Amino acid sequence: MALAHSLSIPPSPALTGLSVATLVLDVVAVIAVVLLVRALRSRRKLTLQEQRAREDVLHLQNIIDAVPVPMFYKGLDGRYLGCNRAFEDVLGKSRGEITGKTVYDVAPPDLAEVYHQADLELIASQGKQVYETKVLFADGMRHDIIFHKAVFRDPGGAVCGMVGSMLDISEQKRTEQHLIRSEDRYKAFIAMSTEGIWRGDVSPPVDVTMPVEEQVAAFIENLRIAECNDALARIYGFTTAGEMVGRRTREFYDLHQVQEVLETFVANGYSLNDYEIRQYDRHGGEIWISSTLVGVVEDGQVSRVWGTRRDITEKKRQHDALEYIANHDSLTGLPNRFYLKNRLEAELAMLDDHGQLALFILDLDRFKEVNDTLGHHAGDLLLVEFAKRLQQVLAGLGGDIARLGGDEFAIIYTRVRNERDVCWLAELMLRTMHSPFDIEGIKVEIEGSLGISLAPLHGRTTSDLLRCADVAMYRAKKVMTRYCLYSPEHDPYTAERLALMHDLGGAVRNNELVLFYQPKVDLKSGSLAGFEALVRWNHPTNGLLLPGEFIPYAEISELIVPLTYQIIERAISQLHDWQQEGIVTTIACNLSTRLLMDDDLSYHIEAFLARYRVNPAHLELEITETALITEPERAREILGRIHAMGVRLSIDDFGTGYSSLALLKSLPLNALKIDLLFVSQMLRSEQDAIIVTSTVNLAHNLGLQVVAEGVECRETLEKLREIGCDQAQGYFIGIPLCAETTGQWIEDRRWREFAPR
Ligand code: C2E
Ligand code: MG
Ligand code: MG
Repeated sequence: MALAHSLSIPPSPALTGLSVATLVLDVVAVIAVVLLVRALRSRRKLTLQEQRAREDVLHLQNIIDAVPVPMFYKGLDGRYLGCNRAFEDVLGKSRGEITGKTVYDVAPPDLAEVYHQADLELIASQGKQVYETKVLFADGMRHDIIFHKAVFRDPGGAVCGMVGSMLDISEQKRTEQHLIRSEDRYKAFIAMSTEGIWRGDVSPPVDVTMPVEEQVAAFIENLRIAECNDALARIYGFTTAGEMVGRRTREFYDLHQVQEVLETFVANGYSLNDYEIRQYDRHGGEIWISSTLVGVVEDGQVSRVWGTRRDITEKKRQHDALEYIANHDSLTGLPNRFYLKNRLEAELAMLDDHGQLALFILDLDRFKEVNDTLGHHAGDLLLVEFAKRLQQVLAGLGGDIARLGGDEFAIIYTRVRNERDVCWLAELMLRTMHSPFDIEGIKVEIEGSLGISLAPLHGRTTSDLLRCADVAMYRAKKVMTRYCLYSPEHDPYTAERLALMHDLGGAVRNNELVLFYQPKVDLKSGSLAGFEALVRWNHPTNGLLLPGEFIPYAEISELIVPLTYQIIERAISQLHDWQQEGIVTTIACNLSTRLLMDDDLSYHIEAFLARYRVNPAHLELEITETALITEPERAREILGRIHAMGVRLSIDDFGTGYSSLALLKSLPLNALKIDLLFVSQMLRSEQDAIIVTSTVNLAHNLGLQVVAEGVECRETLEKLREIGCDQAQGYFIGIPLCAETTGQWIEDRRWREFAPR
């Protein structure tokens, strides 16, 4: 019955214990026979021989008591004849209590029935028996036991009893059970994992002492998937794990890649952690995998590889999408400033001793006007269209474009041989703006200014090159050359200039600023029209500096305010001094944009005029157009107050800014000064002559006087007189001179040389 299924060969750890038990059984069988014989003859008086035999028996009992395996023996009627001490211990009964009893007396009924049936089978077989069952121990627990039993025979060879030993395998059973449970858990874990998990067999194994290339080649050939979960199969476009088993892992890589992965694996001591690889599923679809591998090294050979694979295609896609967004401008689709910086850094790092790189910054001129007049949507369309044109031009040339923001673009060009290449490319890019842009049916004309910096000539870092190209771009805008190569001469931010800026504060406090005066003559009457005060800085080490070398710094710091007040006060005090000498004339001072935002301006001027008792009409202030455009309302209010005092106001460098007629009309002005750029060229350039003539007419129509700057020869002077210009100023009439020399100039009445003949 129940015995049949228990008669299995116990697992290996029990074998050692079992063979001990088998050995001891034989010994016990001998004792049992001896005892039985003794029992049969007990009624007779013992002979000496029998006496000895009895002693042997006692000796043997001592021996089996020393055996730690529980043992017993019983007669064919199933009654116990004896046992060893270990048996007494497990049952918690003494030998005396056991002897003569049956299994029904010492075991619970269900178990006793099992033992009894086994006894019957053993007697029937007349041989040996091994079976597994339970035994209730004295500790109250049912232990898992392997019984090892055999029949024994009397000296005549007839079966006369049974002998048995018990091997307690409870502990081993528990461990087995635990192992089964944990293996189940582990299998379930692998099966349910969303990560692909696999084991690969390397057959034949790879010898770790071989050169790396040979190991890699051997892995490629010998590594096959031995088991895996469905998740792995799904990653590669299969449905079940079974379809993957037996395949070489190289089937899922291209050869170059598998070599790279395995080289890293070998170099890393047969492990790889979260290694990202691009692979293909069986339908040829691109997938990204994060792979972890561990090789099992035994006796200097790798025979097995464990691996996990995670499909990171989606993560990678999201990452790529984010990276695209981070690196591109959403409007034009061009790379953005962030991308440009990285790209530039990479290119600069690769620049060798002979290489050159050009960075262009292209800014659209008057783009704000497009936005203001046609709306931002039109502005956007224009930028998109322009980006396309620029891309077309650069497509064949290998330049990299980025939109830096607003209407500013940057281009990296690495194939620079000389400056001519750079100028040629600049021309090419600017030419994209020659034909108007069609913005929803409206033809929009736009121009741009380009600044260029070169590496390594102007710098070797991204920030240096960007800054230099920016400076050059502003220079191009300012002097209207359309494009300009960076030159330190025009850079207000070089190290020396920054040092200069530092000294400037001292210059204002230490009276290092000096005023030079440049005369203006009245072209109709030939009389002296007045002077323009032009500041110079008598620098303690650098000598006499022109305003272009320090005014721009003063303008970007707060220093421009005290500096300007000092100049105005000096000019007024000069007027006072000349007045004392009987010279009555006017002085024009240049006013920076910043001062037009200073509410105290009129108050200070009024105070100076009062202090030096100078007629306000003898003071003139020159304002540039840009100053007016920034905050026209505020400028108008402040200028209104100054004009009300009787101080004259003029627009300086007229023609270079973008002030509208409406703005000019609304301001309390007295004069326009035509920029010297037009005047100095008017004899050579018809266009400039037209500009000068029409400015004169325009100013007169607005009730303003016209002053021409930059008169460098008599011909220009006469031409200006001819077209009706009111006053002239320039090197031909007089260069800017210090106060003392100017005094002499006045005394000599030098202006008479320029009177009409
Ligand atoms: P600006 O007000 O247009 O001054 C005229 C500039 O043209 C002066 O240069 C003058 O020396 C120069 N110039 C005069 N005649 C001729 C000529 O025939 N040919 C040529 N090529 N140039 C001529 P400067 O003194 O270097 O001043 C440059 C600019 O610096 C001035 O331009 C003005 O904007 C600014 N500046 C000068 N003094 C002051 C000042 O006190 N305060 C402020 N805020 N700016 C000043
Ligand atoms: Mg001026
Ligand atoms: Mg000027």
